[in-house]
Amino acid sequence: MSEILRNMTCSGSGSSSGSLRSTRRTLLGQSMLTAACGVAGFTSLMAADDDSNSQSASKAPETPEEAMKLLIDGNRRFAEGKTISSNRDMSRVREVANGQKPFAAFLGCADSRVPIEIVFDQGFGDLFVTRIAGNVASSENIGSLEFGTKILGAKVLYVLGHTRCGAVSATMKGDEVPGQISGLFQHIRPAVKAANGDLDRAISENVRNQAVLLAEASPTISRLIQRKELIVAGGVYDLSSGLVTAVDVAVS
Ligand SMILES: [Zn+2]
Repeated sequence: MSEILRNMTCSGSGSSSGSLRSTRRTLLGQSMLTAACGVAGFTSLMAADDDSNSQSASKAPETPEEAMKLLIDGNRRFAEGKTISSNRDMSRVREVANGQKPFAAFLGCADSRVPIEIVFDQGFGDLFVTRIAGNVASSENIGSLEFGTKILGAKVLYVLGHTRCGAVSATMKGDEVPGQISGLFQHIRPAVKAANGDLDRAISENVRNQAVLLAEASPTISRLIQRKELIVAGGVYDLSSGLVTAVDVAVS
């Protein structure tokens, strides 16, 4: 069992997601821990694939570049209304029941209008998705994405923002908000500052910032990038067209 897996505890509660066309190398990663805690345990729930199930994805890519192409092609199908919805039947459910080998990991916004698997026309076991308002790279999310990449083998780490994002917009307005919502603002504020009042730019800047943070805050992810085993990418999903536009998230 890996060091990452051993160190995972039930204190985390990650959520979030990740884009396309940009192939600059960066990285990220994350997942969901809370649901597993106190039930069957994180380790068993998120068990890495065993050989008997690794054939599940007939289209399983062997390189980060191939994985990126699957995402780009899937989003194009979705936006054109030509989805194939593969890997969404009970046969696939049973195939991945005892193990997973997702080809991409995502840090995305929790917005109900941006369901990652649907946007990219993927199915069960294909994507390791973490979602959180504003697609911010919190420490819990980073830990989850490390699991999705280092342990499960995702070849693309994708940060996916979207147009008219409420979290970015709220940060820009700076209005008083209830509860702990304002806790998200600190992660988004640098992008808002750089955008000079332009919401679309703030959304793109935020994707870039979170991707760079993932790369720089995680030695685990950095090593995967250096070995060319992982690509970090970013994009913005258009709520109206369904298309994802790439954001350059290159990290040095
Ligand atoms: Zn949003």
